[in-house]
Amino acid sequence: WCDRIGSSNEEKINVSVRIRPLNSKEISNNDYPVWDCTDLKTITCLYTRPDRNYPQSYVFDRVFRQENGTREVYEKGAKEVTLSALSGKNATIFAYGQTCSGKTYTMNGITEYAADDIFNYIKQHDDHVFLIKFSALEIYNEVATDLLNPGSGPLRIMDDPERGTVIEKLVEEIVKDKDHLLSLLSICEDHRQVGETVMNDISSRSHQIIRLTIERSSRVVCDERPGKSLVAALNFVDLAGSERASLTHSEGTTLKEGCYINRSLLSLSTVIRKLSDPNRPRSTHIPYRESKLTRILSNALGGNARTAIICTMSLSNRHFEQTRNTLFFASCAK
Ligand code: ADP
Ligand code: MG
Repeated sequence: WCDRIGSSNEEKINVSVRIRPLNSKEISNNDYPVWDCTDLKTITCLYTRPDRNYPQSYVFDRVFRQENGTREVYEKGAKEVTLSALSGKNATIFAYGQTCSGKTYTMNGITEYAADDIFNYIKQHDDHVFLIKFSALEIYNEVATDLLNPGSGPLRIMDDPERGTVIEKLVEEIVKDKDHLLSLLSICEDHRQVGETVMNDISSRSHQIIRLTIERSSRVVCDERPGKSLVAALNFVDLAGSERASLTHSEGTTLKEGCYINRSLLSLSTVIRKLSDPNRPRSTHIPYRESKLTRILSNALGGNARTAIICTMSLSNRHFEQTRNTLFFASCAK
């Protein structure tokens, strides 16, 4: 990944996979591993009779094993993307995977490590003035809600000729330091959990976007005018469970399937697949407008923007099909 920076391959999306340890339920049920991490970049299916429609091995920028901590996942899978936002490039970090595979666990840790790096960077660059703004929203059933102000009703998304996609009335808080950021994150978590008691399983159906807008301007004054300023958005996206994107439910009827499918997740897969197609003509239409999620992130996907996707999974036989779908999605994004 590092040696790609500055190369002609700048658009490439960094895709990594994180394996979580078997949980107590999986252990007490004597689940067994059906995947093996054969080297630092490869996951191989151990099933004796793999499906011909799917590859036996999947290769990524990096595979993190059960024993790797979130710090390592951050350092090797998301740090570069975080730092690029400090130099003015929009950036997005996604957690993708089925419910209970470790998305929230991973994304929460990554956000904290990123906050450390951001505030350390600011300390070390006192020739610049930085302004960090925090905003957060949740997309549930294609309705976006402000997590800092959930009572304000559905958020309107608009196209501004100069600023691109803007979200009307989204609350932005200026962040002083890491502790302040952590307290804002915990407010958002509370607002998410309120919903969860009302409607079971909201977190598996909704997407959460935490956005840090980073403004940077030079203290050096040229011709009596302040230096040029740069603005970039850094998004941390905890996606709905990837089972919401799968069309093949072994036990589901066609009628029932409609409510399992999540439009934002499907359209994100399409956008990512198109962006990462190396043979794509420059004129290819990228369907950002087809869902709330892709619209909101349109300024921070493709073009000069940096993207990291961390796919989370369990090795257990119990989750074989969903894990295979996750790996298949992830390998298309590479
Ligand atoms: P998801 O957001 O994908 O539904 P969670 O992040 O909530 O899944 O993880 C489900 C459970 O597994 C949580 O209790 C979490 O603490 C635990 N967990 C997930 N990933 C790991 C990991 N890498 N190491 C230890 N525990 C983990
Ligand atoms: Mg979660």
